[in-house]
Amino acid sequence: MVAELISVGTELLLGNIVNTNTQFLAEQCALLGLSMYHQQVVGDNHDRLAAVIRQALERADVVILGGGLGPTEDDLTKEVCAEVMGFPLVEDAHTRERIEQYFKNNIYKEIPDNNWKQAIVPQGAIVLDNDNGTAPGLILEKDGKTAILLPGPPGELYPMFFCKVRPYLEKLQPEVIRSAMVKICGMGESQVEDRLLDLIDRQANPTIATYAKTGEVHIRVTAGAKDEEEAKKLVKPVVKEIRRRFGDYVYSVKERETLEESVIRLLEKYELTVTTAESCTGGLLAGRLVNVPGASEVFREGFITYSNKAKRKYLDVSKSTLKKYGAVSEQTAREMATGGVFATDCDACVAVTGIAGPDGGTEEKPVGLVYIATYMKDKVHVERCQFKGNRAKIREQAVVKALDLLRRSILDNYR
Ligand code: ATP
Ligand code: MG
Repeated sequence: MVAELISVGTELLLGNIVNTNTQFLAEQCALLGLSMYHQQVVGDNHDRLAAVIRQALERADVVILGGGLGPTEDDLTKEVCAEVMGFPLVEDAHTRERIEQYFKNNIYKEIPDNNWKQAIVPQGAIVLDNDNGTAPGLILEKDGKTAILLPGPPGELYPMFFCKVRPYLEKLQPEVIRSAMVKICGMGESQVEDRLLDLIDRQANPTIATYAKTGEVHIRVTAGAKDEEEAKKLVKPVVKEIRRRFGDYVYSVKERETLEESVIRLLEKYELTVTTAESCTGGLLAGRLVNVPGASEVFREGFITYSNKAKRKYLDVSKSTLKKYGAVSEQTAREMATGGVFATDCDACVAVTGIAGPDGGTEEKPVGLVYIATYMKDKVHVERCQFKGNRAKIREQAVVKALDLLRRSILDNYR
């Protein structure tokens, strides 16, 4: 089944707002196994909107429109869609009552006249109650085609999609779609694809898709079948094979688990505490760890030692090391990691020191050079990394690499 998205709103065309609804809806449609060949953005203009709706209904089975359902003059989606599909407009008593109720519970006691416009619906349409606003969503079915109209504000569109549209689409789809995720860290996307080439080449059902994130690659395996059990049966061996091929590069097979979560879970599992000693990442690494609820069990304190003086004061990095090798060096990283453990009595420490740029690089130590050290079980492991990109990108990559090295040293020492 083919789906198409239409985003309605002149502010989208002008770049005043980012089209996050399309990203959300496209991802959701993919999860449901719908094919998507086109997405359109159109301004609040009657004729152009009518034209894109007509075109979308010709080539797709389901057309999802977002925006333009509000009470103002420029909100046209419902009227134009009803016109194109040949539905007369009538008042919906139930929606009228809901609007009344909505305003009763609101600070504005007077109901603005134009709000009643939202109680007018195409005759025979399925009305989707809006629990977070006044404009209801609508589903129009005709000649085997479906148009789904959703309000533009994400705070209304997302919950309406999850509660009402997704169950509707699941019923429309003859087959059940299930997918699984394998998350990889420490390998580039092309390397990952190389190792999967034969699987990707002969893929049909399940399909395999890779997505590159900073320092990570996510692999989605998706299968369609007549029921859930069969779909899962198709997915399982492929996931197993991918895990076999990537070994410890795989940090999670859970849909929502982040890299930092997987690290915190490992620390919890082996009852370890960790501290951070950061120079160029300036607290970003600690911030990522604290993203995880419950991190306080394993992460109690960390250091931001940006200057040489701070490295000496808090981490006891020796003056001669700093002088002889410099702040960005294997030796300094090593002493930072060691100093972090001794200053806190933690089981482990991750230290990061590097040149995030744009200035400060030399031929010998270019921008993007970062040393990351992990201290664990009286051993220090240091890695020299050369990252590319701007300051923000370099710092982000350093954090991901630091999390990954911590993860790997836990596995190497405790598993
Ligand atoms: P309203 O009742 O608020 O007028 P509406 O259904 O008419 O809702 P629009 O007027 O098109 O929707 O958009 C309202 C607001 O919703 C926009 O100002 C914007 O903040 C948000 N919005 C609309 N479309 C998108 C989109 N594609 N992505 C992200 N946000 C959007
Ligand atoms: Mg509007």
